[in-house]
Amino acid sequence: MDMSQPLTELRGIGEVVARKFAILGLRTVGDLIDYYPRRYEDYSTISPLNKIKPGIITIEAVIKQVTGRYVRRGLHITEAIASDQFGSVRLIWFNQPYRAASLKQDQTYYVSGNYELSRQKFAVMNPSIELVSAFPVNTARIIPIYKETKGLSSSQIRNALKQVVEQIRQLPESLPDWIIENNGLMSRAQAIESIHFPASSDVLDQARHRLGFEEVFNLILASLLNKKEIVSEKAPAVEFNEKLARDFVHHLTFNLTDAQRKVIWQIFLDIQKTHPMNRMVEGDVGSGKTVVAAMASVMVMHYGHQVAFMAPTELLARQHASSLQKLLKPLGLGDRVGLLVGSLSQADKDRALQAISTSNMLLIVGTHALIQESVDMHNLELVVIDEQHRFGVDQRKALMAKAGHMPHVLSLTATPIPRSLALTLYGELDISILDEKPSGRVDVLTKIVSPNSTKEVYEKIIEELKAGRQMFVVCPMISESGISDAKSVEEVYERLTTHELKNWKVGLLHGRMKADAKNEVMQQFVDGKIAVLVSTTVIEVGVDVPNAAVMVIENAERFGLAQIHQLRGRVGRGKYQGYCYLMLNDSSAPSKRLRALEASQDGFKLAELDLTIRGPGSIYGISQHGELDLRVANLTDVKLITQARTAAQKLIERGINWAELPELKTHVDGLLKITNLN
Ligand code: ADP
Ligand code: MG
Repeated sequence: MDMSQPLTELRGIGEVVARKFAILGLRTVGDLIDYYPRRYEDYSTISPLNKIKPGIITIEAVIKQVTGRYVRRGLHITEAIASDQFGSVRLIWFNQPYRAASLKQDQTYYVSGNYELSRQKFAVMNPSIELVSAFPVNTARIIPIYKETKGLSSSQIRNALKQVVEQIRQLPESLPDWIIENNGLMSRAQAIESIHFPASSDVLDQARHRLGFEEVFNLILASLLNKKEIVSEKAPAVEFNEKLARDFVHHLTFNLTDAQRKVIWQIFLDIQKTHPMNRMVEGDVGSGKTVVAAMASVMVMHYGHQVAFMAPTELLARQHASSLQKLLKPLGLGDRVGLLVGSLSQADKDRALQAISTSNMLLIVGTHALIQESVDMHNLELVVIDEQHRFGVDQRKALMAKAGHMPHVLSLTATPIPRSLALTLYGELDISILDEKPSGRVDVLTKIVSPNSTKEVYEKIIEELKAGRQMFVVCPMISESGISDAKSVEEVYERLTTHELKNWKVGLLHGRMKADAKNEVMQQFVDGKIAVLVSTTVIEVGVDVPNAAVMVIENAERFGLAQIHQLRGRVGRGKYQGYCYLMLNDSSAPSKRLRALEASQDGFKLAELDLTIRGPGSIYGISQHGELDLRVANLTDVKLITQARTAAQKLIERGINWAELPELKTHVDGLLKITNLN
């Protein structure tokens, strides 16, 4: 049986059941084998019937006296007596009328279920049951629980898997023998069999270790191969011009932090080389990434090369264009900065396109509008991607392709990722960390607010407004479509403008508004014409309004930890004390997540915590990191990552003979497509 065989070839799977499997994305035997359990129940301890206690039990017993009857309309009860040499127990199933006929009297079964009181008598309720055999799938062992769908239970999935155990046992190895040996790994075939049918919890741990190792190993190997390839590409060296750098710094209205200096220097060293830079600057919100990118841009523009600066939203692109113009003006380059976004009028767009193609415009700031075909940036040498985790791989690649060769690439991200994870996910990138906030910044005072203290909090807020500060009120995203988001944000707007903030100018901003209307509201807020902006998370990335001091987050429990941290980075950016209020919808105790936000301002620490609370997918941005398929690996396991990294490096040093490693090649090729040109 090969892996591409449809599931209908298996016993018990007809067209109807196959459709249920398809809902879970399972069409072939290969899909099924690759469908890992979500969790397990331990039914491995078999108790003699004189030793059973209330709770989940497993027994091995002979079935007698099976009866089935309707006790009333809609309620069917099947009862049986199960006995071993030490005693007997009642088994009860509700509304499973087929049970009675399927149970064979006087046969020995494994039975697992909850032993509990039912109408004053103890019984095992709705147990799983199967004939004793050498390979039980639903009882008498550690049982895998899969993600199910209506009409398709884990037990059916197990029964299907049981039929392909022989195929699983013949799965080819993907890793070279010496890696398996050096790291004491289980074979791939045994690991996959054990992930579905673990012989013990020890074996399960080993299986998870092996599969996790492989996931991380493949990812790191692909990254390292990418890096090698980038190093072999050519790019024009951008010579460091000291006078220009001094001029730029001289005209700033603030002193650069040491971290900014260090990172800028790393970038200058990179772009002086004759192969492309591929660097990511990781810095918490407000750490000042834009000015770092601006300084790199200036150096490139000085030699007449173009820079494309891509941001994820129009709001942000507009804001960047205007602040970059300001930064570059004293150097005589202000009018070489332009904007390209979807909402420009056709005439403005044409003008921009013209200026781009003649290299009149050297620093082009925009959204993904930059990657449209009509944009001719043949002189492009530096690509800056702001909030890089917001873009798909294809978008990033398309922008780079504009250069006609591999340009220098600078990615900026405010998603603080623990270093171990960054090295794994972005191994082909050089990473710079802005681990210092501009001086004079004070922590944003963060407070969880229960519904009954909303009033007091608004009294405080109004004092801030009276002192001339501005505020954001952010409402959670509720639906993909955005329809109910608009509704929830409108409701809050309604409430605030008729109650708490009825004497203040309040603006409304959400994703379903036209770009023009959005820009207008945002501009009014930037200009201080409105005091309060009620918004969905569209403002979350990058928006910089130094006069904004208060951030109210409605229904805070609906936000992720890192997301709130980003949001709160919108305030306290100027010289004013920032406040962040996390509003609870009900009076239940706040989550660990919210309490952590109250206690800490350190994005890296919070990311680390998020990772331990919820797993890597939850780190804001990682789940968007394309198709990364980390199902088993625990990315807080530094030892595992180090081992995998060492193995990948050794393999490259030894030289890879792909012909001998066809399985590995398939996996890594897939990943190369994803991670390439990160
Ligand atoms: P982020 O890293 O979140 O993108 P920005 O680049 O938007 O941060 O910078 C946030 C604010 O801090 C901006 O108003 C910027 O002008 C200011 N800023 C940047 N660097 C410094 C510094 N060294 N000292 C004071 N303010 C700075
Ligand atoms: Mg930014």
